[in-house]
Amino acid sequence: MSAEVPSPGGDLIARIRDFIDRELIPLETEFLRSPPALEPRLNALRDKVKQAGLWALALPKAAGGQGLPLTEFALVSEQLGRTPTGHYVFGVQAPDIGNAELLHLAGTAEQKQRYLQPLVAGKIRSCFAMTEPHTAGANPLLLAARAVRDGDHYVINGHKWFCSSAEGAAFAIVMAVTDPDAPPHQRASMFIAPTDAAGWTFVRNIPVMGEACGGYFAHAEIKLEDLRVPASMRLGAEGAGFLLAQERLGPGRIHHCMRWLGICARAQEELCKRALTREIAPGKRLADTQIVQTWIAENAADIACSRALVLQVAGRAETQGFKAAREDVSIIKFQVAGSLQRVLDRTLQAHGALGMTDDAYVAFAFRHERAARIYDGPDEVHKLSVARQILKRYRQP
Ligand SMILES: Cc1cc2nc3c(=O)[nH]c(=O)nc-3n(C[C@H](O)[C@H](O)[C@H](O)COP(=O)(O)OP(=O)(O)OC[C@H]3O[C@@H](n4cnc5c(N)ncnc54)[C@H](O)[C@@H]3O)c2cc1C
Repeated sequence: MSAEVPSPGGDLIARIRDFIDRELIPLETEFLRSPPALEPRLNALRDKVKQAGLWALALPKAAGGQGLPLTEFALVSEQLGRTPTGHYVFGVQAPDIGNAELLHLAGTAEQKQRYLQPLVAGKIRSCFAMTEPHTAGANPLLLAARAVRDGDHYVINGHKWFCSSAEGAAFAIVMAVTDPDAPPHQRASMFIAPTDAAGWTFVRNIPVMGEACGGYFAHAEIKLEDLRVPASMRLGAEGAGFLLAQERLGPGRIHHCMRWLGICARAQEELCKRALTREIAPGKRLADTQIVQTWIAENAADIACSRALVLQVAGRAETQGFKAAREDVSIIKFQVAGSLQRVLDRTLQAHGALGMTDDAYVAFAFRHERAARIYDGPDEVHKLSVARQILKRYRQP
């Protein structure tokens, strides 16, 4: 594994940083007060990104993206993560990027033409419906949603929640059990379901730490009641749901870690600026205190370690594939999420009461990113998985 930091060609990073500083960060105060209200303006900025040739950098060329290698996209994503709208405006946002990769990997020609092409072009949005309120998401083998074959259709019934970005999405990739008697990992399948179909009921956007939000930035509860999906809209083979979920979650977890590095970098910027300007006694600033200097150094250490690890794992996934990097991906998932939480907590503390308000960037990041230790596998599940793999090596003679 190389420890070298890759460098995307030309002035790509500088151009992206400049766009973010000029176009996106000035919109933040408005965004932080009402994210959904800003969506139309963000959509106009997406056109500017396309004109600048910076759209969908991470997606494969064959899917309509620009095919930037993962290690180079890591550096791009770090820049985009500096502001909450970065990934959305540059067309590389979750859950669409994961769904696009999945459709590229497993979609039929018809599915690609109807869903992948407009998705990558930014003409439609999507969501991913796997987690259920009444079964433990940390163990998806408990999944209860059922898809029953009825002629050339499947009829799906189930209850989903934390379906990110469902409001305004054109379609969902839904995970449901197709054969409860099959071996555990072959019981479920994935389906492409239009969100305007009869049987798809949008229940609500779930308030997250007091904020229900809306549109792209919200997480929805959904009921599936006799939702009829043509068999031609099954994604991959029947029973391949868990296999495909792994294919989706591997790259997805690396993408999250890359974005979190950008959030950490931004938090550190905010901490330093605040520390240098906040006077805590005549002639004395926060930055003059040893405790704040310690926080800055600890943030720097958390960021540097996480960054090196993410680039190393991205490099391994790029050269050897996600299967070979699976243990490493679990390590960065909980390690970087932990760094993120520590960095945000120190930054918020240094802002005092201001840090609790939507006048400060850090409050939004703190509220939204606490979930980093839960989604795409809680910390504990990744730690157990890593430990199992390590112990296995010692058990073998
Ligand atoms: C902001 C956000 C966005 C999300 N977006 C999506 C989305 O778009 N689509 C989607 O399908 N899902 C989404 N999710 C759901 C997410 O993937 C699940 O919350 C996650 O898989 C955990 O499942 P759960 O909430 O049911 O927790 P549970 O499975 O009930 O686990 C609760 C806690 O128990 C502990 N735990 C669980 N299992 C073990 C174990 N074996 N050993 C030790 N401890 C354990 C962990 O601490 C865990 O946090 C999102 C969640 C959040 C918070």
